[in-house]
Amino acid sequence: MPSVSFEHVFKRFDAVSVVEDFDLHVADGELLVLVGGSGSGKSTILRLLAGLEEVTAGTIRIDERDVTSLPPRQRDVAMVFQDYALYPHMTVHENLSLGLRLRKVPRAEIERRVRWVGGALGLEPLLNRRPKQLSGGQRQRVAMGRAMVREPLVFLFDEPLSNLDAGLRAQMRIEIGSLQRRLKTTTIYVTHDQVEAMTLGDRIVVLATGRIQQVGRPIELYRTPVNRFVAGFIGTPAMNFLEGRVEQKDGGSVFTAEGLRIGLPNDRIATVASSEPMTLGIRPENLAIVTGGPSPADAPGAGLRGRVLLVERLGGTSHIHIEVGPHRLMASVSNERLPEIGDRIELQVPPALVHLFGEDGRALLQTLSC
Ligand code: ADP
Ligand code: MG
Repeated sequence: MPSVSFEHVFKRFDAVSVVEDFDLHVADGELLVLVGGSGSGKSTILRLLAGLEEVTAGTIRIDERDVTSLPPRQRDVAMVFQDYALYPHMTVHENLSLGLRLRKVPRAEIERRVRWVGGALGLEPLLNRRPKQLSGGQRQRVAMGRAMVREPLVFLFDEPLSNLDAGLRAQMRIEIGSLQRRLKTTTIYVTHDQVEAMTLGDRIVVLATGRIQQVGRPIELYRTPVNRFVAGFIGTPAMNFLEGRVEQKDGGSVFTAEGLRIGLPNDRIATVASSEPMTLGIRPENLAIVTGGPSPADAPGAGLRGRVLLVERLGGTSHIHIEVGPHRLMASVSNERLPEIGDRIELQVPPALVHLFGEDGRALLQTLSC
């Protein structure tokens, strides 16, 4: 299976820039997930690779071969969409084999491929059914099968699970992941759902307004987001942000915002200039609710005092919304004893898990800790 390279690819529609300096190497056999909000350019990037759109500038390669100006047919790329549009009057077998029949692939070869795909996707018992006799998940599998029978060099998935309900989506996600690991076909999978991205990708590319924000393994994006956008986008529930400044005090650094102070880890803060406005980030699952036991206000990891606004009980974990002065924070906890609305509580902020972002959004602590 081949690798895929985008080399400084740009795409403009008229004067509007949609993809900017997209530079990425997808390794042979890799499952790469491209994640970003609606309109961030995900589909355009897939369409550029498939040859359905022309690049404005830059080069696209499949292995060493420059495919930038090749027509779609010569690129050996198969795409699976959200709208799988099966032919309703054809059986599963006919839907799977149609593309091959149109290309005049010999009958025995068509039969071999349909059997192989039927086996790989568990569609064998359904080959004589029509789409309306299938469940949503089975239809999605047929749509994948239609791409697989082509035995492409590269698979492209464009939000293929968006139309399915949550349970089926989770199941199909696991199936796609295990299928890809078996087939080892180089795959680019597009989604707006960061949970899908985190669970599926070998590596994830986070995209915003046509630009790559960060590329990395899921855990790297979670632990060391390079900017505020990635920090807020990856992880559920989303990271808490507080606006404030950093002050030096008694040789230590303290983040201060209206009505609160949070000690910062000295070893990681050395180059942060004070007085500039900054944003502190802390994940809901890294905030601990301390019940009882006062702690000194300025000690590292000192508690924040707040009042509970809302308790969302999800069974295993619960989301506690807390008011700290004029700020609102959320803690995700699995305590058995949960506070009640209106309770005054203390929150522990572990200094080692705090993120800090400059005015331009760039992470200040991560670069020091790596
Ligand atoms: P995504 O798949 O991430 O939601 P798209 O790649 O579909 O985003 O679109 C990115 C941006 O490009 C959007 O603002 C969209 O309106 C614009 N766009 C996409 N296709 C065209 C087109 N053919 N002509 C003009 N603008 C387009
Ligand atoms: Mg899209």
